[in-house]
Amino acid sequence: MHEIHRPGSLRQTRPRTEGWVQRVDADGRPLLEFGEPKHGQPPIHLADLTLPERVEAMGRMGLPGFRAKQLSTHLFGRMETEAEEMTDLPASDRSRIVAGLLPPLLTEVRRLRADDGMTIKFLWRLFDGALIESVLMRYPGRITLCVSSEAGCGMNCPFCATGRNGLTRNLSTAEIVEQVIEANRAIRAGELGAGGGRVTNVVFMGMGEPMANYKRVLAAVHRMIDPVPEGLGMSARHLTMSTVGLVPAIRKLTAEGLQMRLALSLHAPDDELRDEMIPVNRHWKVDQALDAAHAYFEATGRRVSIEYALIRDMNDHPWRADLLAQKLNARGHGWAHVNPIPLNPIPGSVWTASTEAATAEFLNRLREAGIAATLRDTRGKDIDGACGQLAAADALGSAASGAQAASR
Ligand code: SF4
Repeated sequence: MHEIHRPGSLRQTRPRTEGWVQRVDADGRPLLEFGEPKHGQPPIHLADLTLPERVEAMGRMGLPGFRAKQLSTHLFGRMETEAEEMTDLPASDRSRIVAGLLPPLLTEVRRLRADDGMTIKFLWRLFDGALIESVLMRYPGRITLCVSSEAGCGMNCPFCATGRNGLTRNLSTAEIVEQVIEANRAIRAGELGAGGGRVTNVVFMGMGEPMANYKRVLAAVHRMIDPVPEGLGMSARHLTMSTVGLVPAIRKLTAEGLQMRLALSLHAPDDELRDEMIPVNRHWKVDQALDAAHAYFEATGRRVSIEYALIRDMNDHPWRADLLAQKLNARGHGWAHVNPIPLNPIPGSVWTASTEAATAEFLNRLREAGIAATLRDTRGKDIDGACGQLAAADALGSAASGAQAASR
C-alpha cells in the first residue's frame, strides 16, 4: 500500500453543530444513546404480528383463525383499512376486528410535493405526538420510499437536526410498515401522477439509525418482503438498509442471509475526522465498519453503497479520495460503489457544498483508482426532503428558519 500524500497546507474545516449545542457525556464527548429511553409504544397492530400471532389474536377475540388471513389480505394485498371495505368479514364483527387489529398509527400532518409531483414528503404524527417523515419518489421504472425507523436519533451527528434532541423512541414494526402502506394508498389515490403502481423500493434513510432499532426494523423488513398475505410481497433486493456503522448490527444482518442492499454512511475515510462527524466512530472505527461492510458483500454478493457527502474543505480533499480508494481496494475490487452526495449550498455554514472542481477531482481520483462512483441525485431539495444523511445538513437551513421536521 503506498503512502497517501496529505498536504499540511490544505484548509481543514472542522465539523460542528449550528444553531444548537451538542449534547455531551460526563467526559465532554458527544453523547451516544444506544438504549431506548423508557417510553410507551403504540397499540399492537396487525403489521406487528407474524401470521401465527395474528391467528392467536383472532382467537383471543373469539374468532376463527382464518379471519387473520382475510384481514391480512385486506391490509397487505389491497391496502384496505376501513371496516366497510371488508365485505368478506361478518358485518357484525368487522368494526371490532378493525378496532382491535388496525388501530390508526400515523396521522398526516402535512404533505409537500416537489419535482412536478414526482416527489412527496409526508410528515406524520404518531400516537404520542412524535413527528416522523417519509419521502416518496417516482423514478423511471421504480417508486422509492425513504422511511423513518426512529423518532429522533441517539447517534448525535453534529450535522443532523434529527439527532439534536436525542432519541425519543424506536418506532414499532407496524409504524415502519404503515409508512409503506400509506404511500401505496396515496399512489392509488392519484399521487405521483397517472402512472399508478406501488412502492417498489424502500430505503431506511429517513429519521433514525435503523440498526439501533434492529429487532423491529428487521421484522418490518419481513413484513415488506414476505408474500401476501403475510406481508407486502416486495423484493428484498429492492430494500436498502442504511447505517452509520453499527458494526455488531451489520454482522447480525449479514447472518440473516437476506438479499438487501447495505449502505454505509461513511463521509470520511480517516478516523480523525470521522470521530467528529459521526460520533459512533469512537466505538467502531472506519476500518472496522469497512470490514463489516465487506463481509456483508462476501456473504450476500450484494455490492455495498458507500455514502459520502462532499462538504467544502471538510472531507473533500483529494488525499481523502485517495485514502478512501486505497481502503476499498485493500479489501477487494468491485465490492463497493461510492455515492458522493451533493449538498445544497448554505452560505456561511460549515456544512456547505464542495466546489464543482473539488467534486470532479474527488470523483476522478476514485475512478482512476478503479472505484465505481456516481454523484447521487438528490430529490425534493426544495421541500427539504432528500433522503440520506446530508439532507440533514440541508435541513439546518430550514431548521434555523423554523421548519418543523428535519430529514436525516
Ligand atoms: S445522521 Fe442519521 S445517525 Fe446521525 S444523528 Fe442523524 S439520523 Fe441519527
